[in-house]
Amino acid sequence: MNSRNRSALIIGGGIIGCSIAFELLRAGIQVTLIDKGALNKEASTAAAGMLGAQVEMHHPGAFYELCEWSQQLYHKWTEDLLQTGGISPQYIEKGILRAAFTEEDELELRSRLPWIHNAEWLTSKEMRTIEPGLSRDIRGGLRFQQDHQVHPVQLALALQASILRLGCEIREWTPAFSLIEHNGRIQGVRTADGELLADQVILASGAWASALTEPFGLKLQLFPVKGQCISLRTAAPIISSTVFTKGCYIVPKLDGSMIIGATQEECGYDKRCHASVIGSLHSAATQLLPELDHAEFVSTWAGLRPGTPDGLPYMGQSVKMPGLIIAAGHYRNGILLAPATGKLIKQLIMDEPTSINLSSFTPDRVLAPVQ
Ligand code: FAD
Repeated sequence: MNSRNRSALIIGGGIIGCSIAFELLRAGIQVTLIDKGALNKEASTAAAGMLGAQVEMHHPGAFYELCEWSQQLYHKWTEDLLQTGGISPQYIEKGILRAAFTEEDELELRSRLPWIHNAEWLTSKEMRTIEPGLSRDIRGGLRFQQDHQVHPVQLALALQASILRLGCEIREWTPAFSLIEHNGRIQGVRTADGELLADQVILASGAWASALTEPFGLKLQLFPVKGQCISLRTAAPIISSTVFTKGCYIVPKLDGSMIIGATQEECGYDKRCHASVIGSLHSAATQLLPELDHAEFVSTWAGLRPGTPDGLPYMGQSVKMPGLIIAAGHYRNGILLAPATGKLIKQLIMDEPTSINLSSFTPDRVLAPVQ
């Protein structure tokens, strides 16, 4: 069968489902994308948009390799989205400054230098030469020149416009109730509108993905990790790069606002925001950038990261569920990993060799807790 005659059904229209749809459509596959609500209203548009392949990494390995590859794909990928759908994801190439306030934090950051790429240690004065608004109390920090950023809401709009333009059939407000198995293969889903069948079914439903695999004996260890954020604005811009310290980051956006995040809470599917968290995020941000003391409050929100015990996503097929490809559990890095995930899942479906060895990400791996 050539790709023109092949069909794919994607469950979950967040950044991961939409990125997979984009690559499959570009390969000529017919795609239906379903979501329980409107597209991109869960974790993906709650994100800050950092592409932190370096800043997020605490040890080398397969995950670092995946993150770096996705980061390298970003520039061209955002240009392709702009060209296809006419909307810019606001990719900003300004890097991240990761500041240390304590000796312990400085030692942890310096211990990454032997293996991390594109990073250099800067003194406090050197950091403040790049970002004069930073606190004088910082001891110095790491500069990650390749850790750029996008605006997640703009990225979502760019992907949605692009997949529509390429002919994707989008069915919003269509929850997948259960998967359909026939002749030992997953072949579709049951929805309120009836059964939807396709040659290939892809599960990209973020923190909700395990509910559909459990009836088949596949207990994916996936859980929601709530992140609350706030957005502030100052009369004039006070930073141009993203600034980050232990427990807090500040990401400046083109509209003059700054996203400040984020909590890490394991409290089920509760997305309520709390006044005390707004206060503590503001205090942490003001410690790093004192001028934020007088900033205007813009908004607050929360999203549910799809967490896994080892912090790595699930990508690939399980031996327990032939016919189903899983792409879920991108935890803190789903925005960064979107282009790589789209391309890798397309490669699996087209029976092409994958650009990254996916054995570390198999849904059948035995999971150890995060160190
Ligand atoms: P989601 O965006 O949650 O999408 C899953 C979709 O599946 C949803 O639309 C949902 O409605 C749908 N769905 C669920 N169940 C069903 C069903 N049964 N049938 C149909 N549809 C269903 N990542 C970064 O790379 N950089 C960052 O700076 C960053 N910051 C973050 C800050 C916060 C506060 C949070 C919460 C996350 C952040 N992340 C960041 C992580 C990133 O947002 C996630 O990893 C990513 O959005 C996961 O995308 P997803 O498409 O898998 O999940």
